Amino acid sequence: MIPGATLGVEEVLAELTRLRSGDAPTHGGRTLAYVYDSGLAELDELAARAHAAAVSANGLDPTAFPSLLRMENDLVAAAIGLLGGGPDAVGTATSGGTESCLLAVLAAREGRRDIADPSVVVPSTVHAAFRKAGHLFGVRVVDVPVDPVTFRADPVATAAAVDDTTVLVVGSAPSYAHGVVDPIAELAAVAGDRGARMHVDACIGGWVLPYLRRGDADGGDADGGDADGRPPVFDLSVPGVTSLSVDLHKYAYCAKGVSVLLHAGPEQRRGHYFASADWPGYTMLNPTLQSTRSGGPIAAAWAVVRHVGDDGYAQLALSARAATERIRDGLAAIDGLRVLGDPDATLLAVALDGEPGFDLFTVADELAARGWHVQPQFPHRSSPANLHLTVTASNRGHEDALLTAVQEAVSAARAAGPVTIDADLEALIGALDPDTLTEQQFAGVLAAAGLDPASGDGAEPGHPLRLPERMAEINTMLAAASPRLRERLLAEFLGLLYRP
Ligand SMILES: *Cc1c(COP(=O)(O)O)cnc(C)c1O
Repeated sequence: MIPGATLGVEEVLAELTRLRSGDAPTHGGRTLAYVYDSGLAELDELAARAHAAAVSANGLDPTAFPSLLRMENDLVAAAIGLLGGGPDAVGTATSGGTESCLLAVLAAREGRRDIADPSVVVPSTVHAAFRKAGHLFGVRVVDVPVDPVTFRADPVATAAAVDDTTVLVVGSAPSYAHGVVDPIAELAAVAGDRGARMHVDACIGGWVLPYLRRGDADGGDADGGDADGRPPVFDLSVPGVTSLSVDLHKYAYCAKGVSVLLHAGPEQRRGHYFASADWPGYTMLNPTLQSTRSGGPIAAAWAVVRHVGDDGYAQLALSARAATERIRDGLAAIDGLRVLGDPDATLLAVALDGEPGFDLFTVADELAARGWHVQPQFPHRSSPANLHLTVTASNRGHEDALLTAVQEAVSAARAAGPVTIDADLEALIGALDPDTLTEQQFAGVLAAAGLDPASGDGAEPGHPLRLPERMAEINTMLAAASPRLRERLLAEFLGLLYRP
């Protein structure tokens, strides 16, 4: 219901501030997923002012709002320059990484309308956005197991999976879950041999890896990659790579709502453009999934990229990487923990080393109790349960604070002992079939988990039900569930959260 009485500007804003105070912190480097903090004090205000200056403009019609056209072309040009695009390269600004990945799949499908049953071949570590693309666009997702130790895509197995229905091969630079760069050149060669397109998902690494490859001022040519510890070549300059996605709202430290999808040339982009003149209104012309597009995120990103500049980004990338290496070494030195794979960029996945006698999800809870937020990742194929850390420039110089907190959290988890799971809850979940899950069954699961929304002790403004302080038991249950059951349970849970 719309409130009857008007509320003053300051009062409304005070209410917003109060609501926001319950959120995870977006600055200070203590939230190691979802948010990206450059540590540069002025960026927030710059982005906010630029956002405000263009938020009422509509990217739906670039002829009516040429400023947005200019700014988008500037952002795409910046990305092309950073990411190895040739003279024919083009791009599109989207609302985020998922939309960029969706459009890459859509364009590849549209480029091969002759294939009745199109498929996309992905490493099993690929971002879930590609599953969403398959789901939305009727493209089969063929996933290929990655190397069980390095978690990198396997080009030989990929070659075996590519067939006449393959419209696209995907590799990550790096993968979200383990932060490792797939062998892009080999994958692109496989795709090229079969006439398929090749997309590089550099959503999270695209604004960092080029600077790490460049290295310090005296860096020299790093084309060989690994020899000097630098990441391998991964961008549009690799023969066979036809598109690449990079999120500005990640390591370009822009306000949320902007990613760029680059294509080797206009021919590769055409398939995600949509036009309809078949109605009495304006001819709808959309380069992305959106139609009305706020000018706010574009302007904010444009302002931030201009302000930080190439030198600024080089420093931010090297800082984030230095922090990552320090944190990686510190975590690996903690008894009972190990880092998965050999992370190439600024993401870490930390798992248990053997059976050290404590629970990893309890470590996450203990970290949260100390004001540090890491992201539990559930077991998948060869990847064991682990904690994800997205490290940013703001963590540089404060690595020891995090490592001390992890050490304390591990000690507390040891003292707490193993997670005990309620036997009733375990039996209940064990008996569920994800494909026939009913609302009643889900209500029973919630009640057994102590999350009964009807119990009325629910809650904080914005939270229809109170989440438990400690998530270890729930995470342990979810980790034991099949991916399909986990999807169903969490989707039901989401539906419960989004109730007015
Ligand atoms: C974050 C991410 C995405 C999805 O981006 P959103 O902006 O969250 O939609 C896709 N791929 C990778 C590798 C990512 O890290």
